Amino acid sequence: MSGLIPDKVKKISEYVPNTTVYRIRMDANENPYSASGELREEFAKRLSNMEYNRYPDPSAKELIYKFCEVYDCDPDNTVAGNGSDELISILFSALTQPGDNVAVVMPDFSMYGFYAELSGCNVKSYIKNNVSEINFNELAEFVSDNDCRAVILSNPCNPTGRAYSEETILSFVKKCGCAVVIDEAYMEFCREGCSVLKFSGQIENLVVLKTLSKVFGMAALRCGFAVTSNEIASALRKIKSPYNISMTSQVMACTALEHAKQIFSVASELRTATSKLYESLCGLSDKGGYITHPTDANFVLLEFRDGGRAERLFTALRERGISIRYMNKNYLRISCGTDAENKEFLKEFEELL
Ligand code: PMP
Repeated sequence: MSGLIPDKVKKISEYVPNTTVYRIRMDANENPYSASGELREEFAKRLSNMEYNRYPDPSAKELIYKFCEVYDCDPDNTVAGNGSDELISILFSALTQPGDNVAVVMPDFSMYGFYAELSGCNVKSYIKNNVSEINFNELAEFVSDNDCRAVILSNPCNPTGRAYSEETILSFVKKCGCAVVIDEAYMEFCREGCSVLKFSGQIENLVVLKTLSKVFGMAALRCGFAVTSNEIASALRKIKSPYNISMTSQVMACTALEHAKQIFSVASELRTATSKLYESLCGLSDKGGYITHPTDANFVLLEFRDGGRAERLFTALRERGISIRYMNKNYLRISCGTDAENKEFLKEFEELL
């Protein structure tokens, strides 16, 4: 039978995650450190007491409460999702009707455009200057000229690592007559003064996204949060699937959040390690024929003059068991690993140059 699948799905190419096993994974901006022994013991204890026959709490009350304690937010303004991926998806369903325009900036996290299209929206892409530079006055005009219902961007940005200050973001949010989604997935790695999380809930068109997948090192749990106005939060609660976060994830994420202090100490280690990785990559830039983009996150973006060279390096590193991210012909994005992984990567990378 033909015509079963609508055009909006036909035109999407399948996301094929990289499931090959590599000796060193520096391609997904994950935290390279897994849960500590102490945390694992706590996980095991709590999971053994779980009532597996029961559905999980649909409103994830305890999880949201614990998240809000750590990040100083109001539970009434907070919604939990199956990763921030799910929240991105349901945000478009909550904020738009099919045929509405949504603005994204390029380059940025590719799932924004993917979910906007899937919701039947037209994606309007604002192209950044020199890959990482956003002129926010221009972007606000772009959003207004295109009559967008929503605009979404990451701060710090994946893949550039660039972060904009709280003042810049706030003044942009105030200029926009539509919902503004600021994805702060990497904010814990960033310099002070860039987060607008403390304002979410107070500004009606602002949504801030958070995740436990990065600094918390809990990507496997699939837990994200949207902190926003009462109106948007209640729209999200209405349309999310009732049991969107498994009980296992809720229990483990609550446990991880109780250990936030210990986990955050890793963030400062990773910040230092990323700075070292950045400096070392800067030192090789003449030899490598690339520009190293300054970073406020846990990864570094290299921009090559010769895209062929970026691709050859990416392939050769994989052959040596090291996976990094190759994007858009001229770019390599390298996520910070452990000190030992960074050292090994740099040794192999320099040898290949
Ligand atoms: N936002 C950004 C900017 C990301 O880079 C990623 C994952 N790479 C996500 C959200 C997805 O986070 P989660 O694991 O919570 O779905």
